[in-house]
Amino acid sequence: MEIEVPVVIVGAGPAGLATAACLNKYSIPNVVLERDDCHASLWRKRAYDRLKLHLGKDFCNLPHMPFPPDFPTFVPRVDFLRYLDNYVTRFKISIRYNRNVESASMDEQNNGKWRVVVKDTTTNADEVYVANYLVVATGENSEGYVPQIEGLEGFEGKHMHCSEYLNGRDLYGKHVLVVGCGNSGMEIAYDLSNWGANTSIVVRGPVHYFTKEMVYVGMSLLKYFKIEKVDKLMLLMSKLKYGDMSNYGLIRPKDGPFFLKKKGGTTPTIDVGCVSRIKKGEVKVFPAISSIKEDKLIEFEDGQNGQFDVIIFATGYNSTVLKWLKDYRGLFNENGMPKPDFPNHWKGENGIYCAGFSRRGLDGIAFDAKRIAADIKKTVNIKNLPSEEDNFASFKLLEK
Ligand SMILES: Cc1cc2nc3c(=O)[nH]c(=O)nc-3n(C[C@H](O)[C@H](O)[C@H](O)COP(=O)(O)OP(=O)(O)OC[C@H]3O[C@@H](n4cnc5c(N)ncnc54)[C@H](O)[C@@H]3O)c2cc1C
Repeated sequence: MEIEVPVVIVGAGPAGLATAACLNKYSIPNVVLERDDCHASLWRKRAYDRLKLHLGKDFCNLPHMPFPPDFPTFVPRVDFLRYLDNYVTRFKISIRYNRNVESASMDEQNNGKWRVVVKDTTTNADEVYVANYLVVATGENSEGYVPQIEGLEGFEGKHMHCSEYLNGRDLYGKHVLVVGCGNSGMEIAYDLSNWGANTSIVVRGPVHYFTKEMVYVGMSLLKYFKIEKVDKLMLLMSKLKYGDMSNYGLIRPKDGPFFLKKKGGTTPTIDVGCVSRIKKGEVKVFPAISSIKEDKLIEFEDGQNGQFDVIIFATGYNSTVLKWLKDYRGLFNENGMPKPDFPNHWKGENGIYCAGFSRRGLDGIAFDAKRIAADIKKTVNIKNLPSEEDNFASFKLLEK
């Protein structure tokens, strides 16, 4: 069976939902295909319990629906999910769950339309969607990345990616090594130490660390001042609060945090309490791992070693676009991230777009969604667009 719809959106995370909402505002029919059985599965199933939005809510609104005024500045995970659930209802977003997109290619025989082949994972049946426009919204964080480390496959303890970590309830008294000192790594190390685990963290290179409030001030000031000025202030605030932490293994980079973010997308770490645990010696810092030996022994690059029961890799994520996108891959580099730099990253040729790949979090997602919908509106054949009622009827048809 082939299902024709003007726009197919792959992925029902915040980026897919935001794009669908913007298209619905223009009454442009679309369908969101999601491999999981729920929307926002990253936030619902692959995020730790204590997670809150790292950035203030002013920087995380999706288009056309600001956060409610009674939400706290840093929105907890469950409230963010509540907001997304309301978003789906309010904008009547049409999502087909349990649909794993297996391939998307350009059908030259059929007026150059997109042919999207999907597996319904509940029935194992194949479905084909034919669309004028394809929006890739499968996320920068589609799949956990674990680096190759000598001896890891034989590790006698347990190891996991941070997307599998919920809390440290079962890790009391265990020796746990967190690898990576980004937002997730530092927060998980803090959480583990709260749960009574003997916690260590691998910090491979220089890192900026700030409180959420400092980042909030910095991001607000960026609206009025140049990056260099704001970066100087950020460093001053960090030094006043934390002092020199180099003796504890935390060395600040030479360049400022917002400069680095702009240059390469490296996000400064938001400290929720881990730095003071490091200062007190309650969380121990190690350099990079060199190898893993028998008896759960881990060796580090400076010659130190230690025995660990559990390793948690907070070492980032991979995009999986290139696994299923067969044509117009030219929009993406070999890592499945857009080739053009921001702000030109969201559009390719022949009706392909990507939302949520600018390394600018939810603010970047709102930017992409608005531009994609406006661009489609310019070129879509307005005459053939169904009225709002027919549009709704076509969703109903799809939902059958
Ligand atoms: C722990 C964590 C905390 C974060 N905190 C913040 C924050 O505070 N503020 C902020 O602005 N940003 C934050 N981010 C960054 C970013 O905003 C989030 O990652 C956000 O969820 C990205 O949305 P997305 O829709 O692009 O991707 P995702 O949320 O990853 O959604 C992609 C969807 O696509 C689906 N999918 C993938 N492949 C297929 C396929 N082949 N077929 C069908 N469906 C598929 C997935 O199941 C998923 O539901 C955070 C990220 C992480 C990991």
